[in-house]
This record gives sequence, structure tokens and C-alpha cells, in this order.
Amino acid sequence: MPDDADWRLRGQERYLQGATLVRKPYQARSEEWEHDHCEFCWTKFMDPSFSSEQARYVEDHPDVLVEGYAVQGGATIHGIKDDYWWICAPCAQEFAHRFDWTVLEPGHQR
Ligand SMILES: [Zn+2]
Repeated sequence: MPDDADWRLRGQERYLQGATLVRKPYQARSEEWEHDHCEFCWTKFMDPSFSSEQARYVEDHPDVLVEGYAVQGGATIHGIKDDYWWICAPCAQEFAHRFDWTVLEPGHQR
């Protein structure tokens, strides 16, 4: 259980408290915005279907994630679209209780 001094924490409760997270493959948002980072540990997300270069990069970098947990509903800030914030699986698990998240898994949605 992470404590208050966890290096990944820097005020995310301002926009992620009580959020709904859904597990899904990472998808590039636009031609210029083809990767993201975990909101907590900065692990990189990339979309291998975006281009052959991306696919090769993902293959060469096993630490790059191709799926994770996307924040839905803009949490507490208006005007933020779904899938704007991404959280990796380990961080989603470790912080779910602290941030009171609803975590949805494909096939297990209520
Ligand atoms: Zn993370």
C-alpha cells in the first residue's frame, strides 16, 4: 500500500479522485499525439497500430505499454474528454483504494 510520500503522488486527487477507469488498448489521439504516459509513474503508452515505426518501437521497448486504464468522464474537471488520462495496471491497482476509483475490466462490467 503506497504511503503519502510515494514518489508517484503529486496532487492527482485534484482531478482523479473518485474517477472511473476502464481497461482498454491505448489508441493514438491524433497524428501528432501518438503516445501518452501513466499519470503516476510516467510509463509510456504507445499504439502499435498507429504506424510501422510505432509497432517497431513497441517491439524494441518491452517497457512500453499498449494497454492500460483510461480515465472516463473527465473526473472533476469539465471539458476533459474520455481517454485523456492513462494509468498503468500496477498504479491502477495500487492507488484504486486511495483514490476511490471504479475500475472496469472488459467483460466484467456491471
Ligand atoms: Zn503507472
